Amino acid sequence: LLEIENLKKSFEDLDVLHDISLGVEEGEVVAIIGPSGSGKSTLLRCCTGLEQADSGTIHYEGSYGLVFQNFNLFPHYSVLKNIMDAPISVQKQSKKEAEKEARRLLEKMGLGDKADVYPCQLSGGQQQRVAIARALALKPSILFFDEPTSALDPELTGEILKVIRELAEEKMTMVIVTHEMSFARDVADRVIFMDGGYIIEQGDPKEVIEHPKEERTRQFLARFM
Ligand code: ATP
Ligand code: MG
Repeated sequence: LLEIENLKKSFEDLDVLHDISLGVEEGEVVAIIGPSGSGKSTLLRCCTGLEQADSGTIHYEGSYGLVFQNFNLFPHYSVLKNIMDAPISVQKQSKKEAEKEARRLLEKMGLGDKADVYPCQLSGGQQQRVAIARALALKPSILFFDEPTSALDPELTGEILKVIRELAEEKMTMVIVTHEMSFARDVADRVIFMDGGYIIEQGDPKEVIEHPKEERTRQFLARFM
């Protein structure tokens, strides 16, 4: 579904991504872990066109959605309008159709009663669920998450991880940058460890997290134990 080949990206003289190649299958959940500055966000930003790679190719079928760490909702739009906006303006859906789908997604996120409030009236966990509904409204073939819970306290983190877990059960294709190791181990089909702009190690989540082969992976994971 997604095929990245020989991706390279530098900022000035800082090489952030070195020759990254990666394929994601339909229905697969891939978790990306790694230290701060290892290039995880830059990789997602290149995949979603927010950043232009210097070389390499990114190919995918269908469209994508992106969920950020800081929700990035439109503050002056109601929850409902946040979700309906892109389907109407980008995908030219009718208002009626977009609203029906937005309300369905809000129900699914457990926010059926929040359609008319503004983002500032919601908790961080609720805002993030609106952001996920907004991404889903465009019916993406793949969803990218960049540390979707790192701005949340532990209780709200659980809410979001539950939603992502449900999407995984529905076979939504997802690439998730996360520092939640137990979540990565339990929900992902594959874990990728990045360091210094390289994929150092990848494979079965239990193998990579519990029995890493590479010394750098071991050192990184030791901080979470
Ligand atoms: P974190 O876990 O802290 O989010 P990350 O793995 O997502 O880290 P990136 O945000 O991809 O790391 O950043 C990788 C490197 O690229 C860092 O050294 C960062 O300072 C640099 N970088 C990222 N974006 C830019 C930019 N727009 N201009 C210059 N340097 C950048
Ligand atoms: Mg990042």
